[in-house]
Amino acid sequence: MLLCADPKADYAAQAAEINAAIQRVLKSGHYILREEVAAFEREFAQWLGVAHAVGVGSGTDALQLALRAWNIGYGDEVITAAHTCTATVAAIEMVGATPVVVDVNPHYYTLDPDRIAAAVTARTKAIIPVHLYGQPADTTAISAIADRHNLVVIHDAAQAHGASCAGKRIGAHEDAACFSFYPTKNLGALGDGGMIVTNDANQALRLRALRQYGWNEERTSELRGGINSRLDELQAAILRVKLKHLETALAKRASLADHYAASLAESGLVLPTVQPKGKHAWHLYVVRSKQRDQLLHYLRDQGIGALVHYRHPIHLHPAYAHLGHSRLPISEAICQEILSLPLHPAMSEADVEYVAAKIQEFAVSQIPVS
Ligand SMILES: *Cc1c(COP(=O)(O)O)cnc(C)c1O
Repeated sequence: MLLCADPKADYAAQAAEINAAIQRVLKSGHYILREEVAAFEREFAQWLGVAHAVGVGSGTDALQLALRAWNIGYGDEVITAAHTCTATVAAIEMVGATPVVVDVNPHYYTLDPDRIAAAVTARTKAIIPVHLYGQPADTTAISAIADRHNLVVIHDAAQAHGASCAGKRIGAHEDAACFSFYPTKNLGALGDGGMIVTNDANQALRLRALRQYGWNEERTSELRGGINSRLDELQAAILRVKLKHLETALAKRASLADHYAASLAESGLVLPTVQPKGKHAWHLYVVRSKQRDQLLHYLRDQGIGALVHYRHPIHLHPAYAHLGHSRLPISEAICQEILSLPLHPAMSEADVEYVAAKIQEFAVSQIPVS
């Protein structure tokens, strides 16, 4: 099966280095918040070009801890997308704040700045742009709205390691950005992990306290709202190995995406469009088809593990029905048509051509015989 993402193949490509890193941690006797986490935080911050990085238990926790650090909670509204992973909205509710979901741009699938501006109220405290699929949202326009209304911008960069907008890396220039190291992400651990990055030294200190009950150095809790969410030494050691290979992996993703674009140009599918100021990080290669479910089954029968990542925008999940006061026609339409094709660094151009050939075969099979 040609998988949509293949963490096992990614591990196999660096198995010797990763095994050595794991052995080093096992023998060290230190398993939580020690040298490996500190080193990975330094190396990740340096790779991104940001001053501080704080390792935590997951991407979801990174988002909720960033909201806590900026004192966002009960009574505060946070504007975000409904076309996203549940985690984005779940994190807002974890801190007691109210998610306000708005529609996305129909071509780029990221938050539409005009709709953000229209959703701002006296209670709005933050915007969480989601750089979905690796496509950077328009950070220039979003920062301008945030400045105008005195809002914090906490970027959900869980899918966007390596993306940039207007020549600036996502996460390097903003209040805060949150990354996930879920195994299938562009930089994936062999378990859960997450990171918050910021250029604000004081907030970095607060985040270090908040990931452990608000503790200071003497384990006295000074800050309210602390939780337990730590990146562990094993995952940090594994991620240090993966980080060394990240630029190569990103370049491979970009070249496979180019190959898809060329191979699928005549397919009749709606292909991804990179926003004009953006550099896409190609976490997922998402196409749109009016016959999405038939195409999905056709491909799966041919050994191609295409996936529908988001069958419903968040406000149409039963557990989030309380957000559904407004309709979001673009997000709702996109979810009916999207399909993620296999895209990961262990794939070859021949794999891309195989997928494209099977999509062509499906298209031909749909032509009515007259
Ligand atoms: C994966 C993901 C998250 C959550 O990350 P976890 O590490 O799984 O908690 C948040 N937002 C988006 C857009 C994601 O894709």
